[in-house]
Amino acid sequence: MPRRAERKAPRTRRWVWVGAWLACIALVGLAYLAGRRASRPPAPAPPPAFTALQDLLGPLEGPSAEIRVADAAAAAVFVDELRQAARRDGVPVTGESRGPSRIRVRLDLPGGPYPVVVRWARPPAEAPRLAVVIDDMGRNLERARAFLDLPIPVTPSVLPYLKHSAGVARLATARGRVVLLHLPMEPRGYPRRADPGPHALMVGLPEAEVRARVRQALESVPGVSGVNNHMGSRFTEQSEPLAWVMDELASRGLFFLDSLTTARSVAFEAARRAGVPALRRDVFIDNERTAEAIGRQLERAVARALRTGRAVAIGHPYPVTLETLRAWAPRFGEAGVRVVPLEALLPTKPGG
Ligand SMILES: [Zn+2]
Repeated sequence: MPRRAERKAPRTRRWVWVGAWLACIALVGLAYLAGRRASRPPAPAPPPAFTALQDLLGPLEGPSAEIRVADAAAAAVFVDELRQAARRDGVPVTGESRGPSRIRVRLDLPGGPYPVVVRWARPPAEAPRLAVVIDDMGRNLERARAFLDLPIPVTPSVLPYLKHSAGVARLATARGRVVLLHLPMEPRGYPRRADPGPHALMVGLPEAEVRARVRQALESVPGVSGVNNHMGSRFTEQSEPLAWVMDELASRGLFFLDSLTTARSVAFEAARRAGVPALRRDVFIDNERTAEAIGRQLERAVARALRTGRAVAIGHPYPVTLETLRAWAPRFGEAGVRVVPLEALLPTKPGG
């Protein structure tokens, strides 16, 4: 027993000493660190990252920032301020792109690109609109159906006296579409170079005959809301017979689209004089029947709508026109242009 007690006592004492030394060392260390901290001048707070940008945008959280401003001018000012703030914070700004109602830029933050979208709301009346009229319909019901099935509301214009004139008109009406009568009129160079088809409006016909031909054509295409001219580069230069035509349209509450097959057309003015709501064609899309040419013309139509607020494009029921319009359907919206039925472009009469 004693032997065991004697052996245990020195060992315990040794551990106490080791513990004390360790405590001393720790205390000295802590004192040293405390002293160092106290003797150092208080370190300035580390600069918060991207102060200028955060002043402008708030915390740079989420995958992107979206800012809403009143209009395009305010958006341009905001993007200028954003560029200045980014320069102060040393952040590169890249990839600026402008749309009709937004400007997008990218801040190249260390953690990755951070898109900033500056949007402004357009009053709906100001949103650029485009009508796409498809002329010369009435020969082929399936083709008409394919055009009506496009994801954009094209406006069919139907020739009278064809096998499917009434069928196409009824099909379009059943789908809630506005239908035009594509009224045949005398072209220059008739009959050698161009033939508008039977019962066309010809220069030199007496008034009663012109009026009768208009009525007859309207009966052949049921349920139309308006009329545009098929060919007619000669007839639409003549004010007097046009006045008879417009009088017939006015008495039925129809509107008129001047296809503008001649630069000297006076049909638009004749319609206005008769109190017929009137529009003019801006772009023919498929005079050249290739996807490239039609794409170029659609770009022109979109540019026109963006510039003036509205545009009227006219095409024909060709397969390449159908396929190009199908390919383009999502691009109108991306360009900031809404495709609308032709009727939506009519000037709204004050008071009704
Ligand atoms: Zn035509």
